[in-house]
Amino acid sequence: MCRTDLHLAEGDLPPKHPAVVPGHEIVGDVDALGEGAHRFSLGDRVGVPWLARTDQSCRYCRRGDENLCESPDFTGWDLDGGYADACLVDEAFAYALPAGLSDEKAAPLLCAGIIGYRSLLAADVPTAGSLGIYGFGGSAHLTAQVAMHLGMRVHVLTRGEQNRDLAVDLGVDSVGTAADVPPEPLDGAILFAPAGDLVPVAMRALSPGATLAVAGIWLSDIPVLKYQDELFHERRLRSVTANTRRDGEDFLTLAARFAISATTVAYPMADAPTALEDLAHGRFGGAAVLHN
Ligand SMILES: [Zn+2]
Ligand SMILES: [Zn+2]
Repeated sequence: MCRTDLHLAEGDLPPKHPAVVPGHEIVGDVDALGEGAHRFSLGDRVGVPWLARTDQSCRYCRRGDENLCESPDFTGWDLDGGYADACLVDEAFAYALPAGLSDEKAAPLLCAGIIGYRSLLAADVPTAGSLGIYGFGGSAHLTAQVAMHLGMRVHVLTRGEQNRDLAVDLGVDSVGTAADVPPEPLDGAILFAPAGDLVPVAMRALSPGATLAVAGIWLSDIPVLKYQDELFHERRLRSVTANTRRDGEDFLTLAARFAISATTVAYPMADAPTALEDLAHGRFGGAAVLHN
């Protein structure tokens, strides 16, 4: 379960067609092969992510930025997703999953993990630099682990005591509330919380030349920025939009190498509405996983 499922359920994201089945962090076994499908064998365990299909012909796809494709399809938005017994997937967009990882631990890697990884690249933190993480849910707790393995100092700023406890457990360098000033200027930051109010807060915490990457597909309105205090000194504000397959492959390789582990809470599939409500109210730390 991803926060995007919640945005869809609550109407922040308009559905692409009525009664679309949500869910885009799917772990399943190949049950049948379509005509011409040969990348996987029957019974193989695969991961199905948010990026379901790109046209591979628009100018963005041709230059390697398929995350910006002009006519993409997304799992659980354009195409029926994983809150189901089965789904259809284009094999070219599925992932082989690292062995030795349970289904429950693998699922959150497929959107939370991959998008967090792209956001980390976007934040462009120099070697041995400091990274600020605003909001600490499913995506952030995976990204923090990667950042620490890459040698960054990680400062977590988030509301929600459970989220702060999880950050402490993971061994980050400091933990505070979202309004706190981090203990050092940030050489890069990622905003995971869907709260535009935090943009100026995070921008003020950046060191000169540093970037704030906004990870979410949806953000509440950003207040007016004060140029001198929040943007000058070449501070940069950028968004992160979906991901390329390359991001996914690179992240899954790193996740296996660093033994990145998702903190998960299991729900039966029938309790999906409860799980979404618990996500909306921040009632758990980490990521919720629905089981068939
Ligand atoms: Zn394209
Ligand atoms: Zn997602």
